[in-house]
Amino acid sequence: MSRPPVSPLFTEEHIRQRVEELAAAIAPRLGPEPVLVALLTGAFVFTADLVRALSRQGVRPHVDFMVLSSYGKGTVSSGRVQVKLDCQESLAGRQVLLVDDILDSGNTLTFAIEHLRRKGATEVLTCLLLDKPERRQVPITADFLGFTVPNVFIVGYGIDYAEQYRELPFVAMVHEE
Ligand code: 5GP
Ligand code: MG
Repeated sequence: MSRPPVSPLFTEEHIRQRVEELAAAIAPRLGPEPVLVALLTGAFVFTADLVRALSRQGVRPHVDFMVLSSYGKGTVSSGRVQVKLDCQESLAGRQVLLVDDILDSGNTLTFAIEHLRRKGATEVLTCLLLDKPERRQVPITADFLGFTVPNVFIVGYGIDYAEQYRELPFVAMVHEE
């Protein structure tokens, strides 16, 4: 499998600082028993850092995961999203912090919010590591956002290119050959 070259966009230190800022902004908005629901697989590294930064802010969330899939493995979202693995926590009457890696067309986040509300969440706050506003098909913004990026293909810090590059400790862009 070819590994196309990548170049760093956000360093480890840059991300670390931004995650602390996000946690400081999120903490005052959370009630006593929030549930953090993260979307696998791309958000796993971000979530691991965010939950520890939230802990430093005195937040003690329950943590749960969902796997969603968008039909069509191409670079353009089909707009149809499916639940492949649902979260296990009971969400009735709960406040949810929904965490994902990249806000792109907006289809995934829109679907996930609606799904969590159907499960009884009273409030769904969203925290995204990255936003590509140029690519939006559905009008939606994140409540908490790490960084805005241009319309490039992102890898690293949990985010993959054909399952490669998730292990990179920084966020990078792929140079397609
Ligand atoms: P949306 O439904 O907003 O179009 O899709 C968001 C999802 O698409 C993200 O959670 C992420 O999994 C994927 N995605 C969007 N842009 C990129 C990218 O540049 N690199 C990778 N690896 N995934 C992306
Ligand atoms: Mg994703």
